[in-house]
Amino acid sequence: MARRQLQAGEVLFQEHDAGDVAYLVERGRIRVSLRGTDSAVTLADLGPGDLVGEMALIDNAPRTATAVALEDTALLVIDRGHLAERIAQTDPIVRALLGGQIKRYRAALATLQGGAAPDQSLGTDDAAAVAKIRLESQLREALDGGRLQMHLQPLLDIPTGKIAGYEALIRWDHPERGPISPLEFITLAEETSLIVPVGQFMLQEAISALVTMRSRGMAQLPFLSINVSARQLREADLIQSLLERLGDAALPASAVKLEITESQVLDYPHTAEVLDACRAAGIRVALDDFGTGFSNLSHLSALAFDTVKIDQAFLRGVEGSSRAAMMLDAIVGLVRATGADALAEGVETPEQLQTLRRLGVRYAQGYLIGKPEPLARALQAQGA
Ligand code: C2E
Ligand code: CA
Ligand code: CA
Ligand code: CA
Repeated sequence: MARRQLQAGEVLFQEHDAGDVAYLVERGRIRVSLRGTDSAVTLADLGPGDLVGEMALIDNAPRTATAVALEDTALLVIDRGHLAERIAQTDPIVRALLGGQIKRYRAALATLQGGAAPDQSLGTDDAAAVAKIRLESQLREALDGGRLQMHLQPLLDIPTGKIAGYEALIRWDHPERGPISPLEFITLAEETSLIVPVGQFMLQEAISALVTMRSRGMAQLPFLSINVSARQLREADLIQSLLERLGDAALPASAVKLEITESQVLDYPHTAEVLDACRAAGIRVALDDFGTGFSNLSHLSALAFDTVKIDQAFLRGVEGSSRAAMMLDAIVGLVRATGADALAEGVETPEQLQTLRRLGVRYAQGYLIGKPEPLARALQAQGA
């Protein structure tokens, strides 16, 4: 690391100098002041252990103050590059907040000096971060205000031709933007702990839907397949609280299935533990979006899933292309070899369903079978 030595009275940097490094005072004293007006205003006197000029590490803007040594002083130079990686790794929202604070501080200093305030408008990164903060707080409001909804999409049991279960999919009708894709707001919720109450909401909705279905006297109670995110899976009491909810409603554990995605399986020891707990309790587990992530086939063989959901990408083009059909055939074979049932997502045409039947796929999900809809509509469709 580079060092700098200053004698008493020597200037370290002054207003408008390029700001690309900060300093750590090792010995001596530095005075930071504003010199714009007739009389200088002292902002701070700094000594050993203090940082000087550190704002530049974050925004790389010109200096807004002057730093002068009050006595013989030794400094350690902290290059922007040293921190660049750390700064890049911080949450973009935190980065934007910090950047905003610094802009405001610099503007206040400029005003003190009698100059024009620098441009305080947000850059595009900052604007995106603020939009996220906004969406997140609106999601929180929607959750508290009961404006999130659960829709159900039917899962066809191909051999019997009956609806065996439903996937529970979250819906948010945003007051200004209209329906927002869960891909957008679930990702956002996953970045914070907001996914936990959102996930609990879906569990509660699923249980109450099952209670309604049972009260309608459906001949055989369908199962509800619930998406759980990585963050939820790490909650120690997820399975326990699910079992309690089921118990309170006098529902069997077989009434729910949990869907977890491939990326979550990468945390192998933990996933294995959760799967064991589910198996012991009688809760079935599906591996979601199979084939889209970082497929680790050894995990697929080591972890016992009840169902493997083959991503809809593999169904596209199976009618036209023999290569696509061969791929699908091979994947179904792989899934069945692990002892799991295969489910094909995104089934949109009778020809696709025919192909799945021929390949021995157990379940089909897609617009051909039914779109996701509110519970009442799903019940109507089943004549319940
Ligand atoms: P996913 O788990 O893969 O869910 C299936 C997605 O495919 C759903 O999108 C569904 O509406 C859509 N889909 C179903 N059939 C067809 C079809 O025939 N053609 C086409 N093109 N699409 C079809 P959706 O509802 O937009 O959900 C997107 C993703 O958001 C889900 O993907 C899931 O990863 C996530 N998600 C949804 N609800 C929840 C939830 O309650 N919790 C969590 N953690 N994630 C959720
Ligand atoms: Ca799913
Ligand atoms: Ca899926
Ligand atoms: Ca998907």
